[in-house]
Amino acid sequence: MSPSNIPTTMRAAIAHRVGEPLSIEQVPVPTPAPGEILIEVLACGICHSDLHAVDGDWGTPPLMPLIPGHEVAGRVAACGDGVTHLQPGQLVGVAWMFWSCGTCEWCLAGMETICPSTESTGFSKAGGYAEYLVAPAAFVATLPESVDPVAIAPILCAGVTTYRGLKRTGLRPGQWLAVLGVGGLGHLAVQYAVAMGLRVVALDVDPDKLALATSLGASAVVNSRETDPVAAVRELLGGTHGSIVTAAAPIAFEQAVGLLRPGGTAVYIGLPGNDRDTISASISRLVNDEITVRGSNVGTRLDLQEAVDFALRGQVAATVRQVTLDDVNDVFADMRAGRIVGRAVLTPR
Ligand SMILES: [Zn+2]
Ligand SMILES: [Zn+2]
Repeated sequence: MSPSNIPTTMRAAIAHRVGEPLSIEQVPVPTPAPGEILIEVLACGICHSDLHAVDGDWGTPPLMPLIPGHEVAGRVAACGDGVTHLQPGQLVGVAWMFWSCGTCEWCLAGMETICPSTESTGFSKAGGYAEYLVAPAAFVATLPESVDPVAIAPILCAGVTTYRGLKRTGLRPGQWLAVLGVGGLGHLAVQYAVAMGLRVVALDVDPDKLALATSLGASAVVNSRETDPVAAVRELLGGTHGSIVTAAAPIAFEQAVGLLRPGGTAVYIGLPGNDRDTISASISRLVNDEITVRGSNVGTRLDLQEAVDFALRGQVAATVRQVTLDDVNDVFADMRAGRIVGRAVLTPR
């Protein structure tokens, strides 16, 4: 696509006020600044975080009116001045981490996801519920021409988040991992863990989700509604070497610590519906058993390329349902009601 093919206006789903439905409008196509690219959106995953953003669960988003969406697969439509490593026509992915400063102590240490100056796609910057968006060229993932944009979109958020969380367990092949919650993140966590050579015990309250975990390679499953999951995992395996929490229920975060064997590491990637929830843990257990509890926040650009690579090799695939821009309020309604099966991915054209 050459710049002459780019229209002057585009369709976008826009949040004007917290908690109100998105409105589908015709708005100007943005212009890439130096160092930025204009991307034609081919697919954008609809993530629960988008709903949290427009419902104001994290306070009012810094950018209002807001075009949400941070799981964008698209094609470079135009390059701003100074962009040398990308060309119009190339496929790229845009994730939650839109930009980080590159100069603070965390960026310098390769922990750019916790940069205090970071910008977030579809939260502090316009996102992918639109026909076009702009993004910094240095922060997009390059994708091969063979990729299916709809299939890859959820990998750009749910995939990279679970993958980084698994890396942060520090587990080695053959060790046991507990996956708490087999939803959008959890069903990917099982697949990444299996691909990384870990043995998985999956925990959920829904028998269908446990059956899914088994079909994806989990070696054992525990129904947390029918049995005490901490006692069950400790009896079954003597505890696990690591655990990853993708669920939102606060109890799961405590169970993830309780079911570890001595020396184990729990990693939290799920977020409860509000930011006031706390956990309680036995101090003597943490000290005497040398238990580690870590948070993990989306993923770096390197995590993103690695997470995508697993999907390109066919080792990881999200369950997706394709919808249009006009369906976004219905998808949000399904999310509020807990009716979402797999990941809804919108195609704006
Ligand atoms: Zn997301
Ligand atoms: Zn920084």
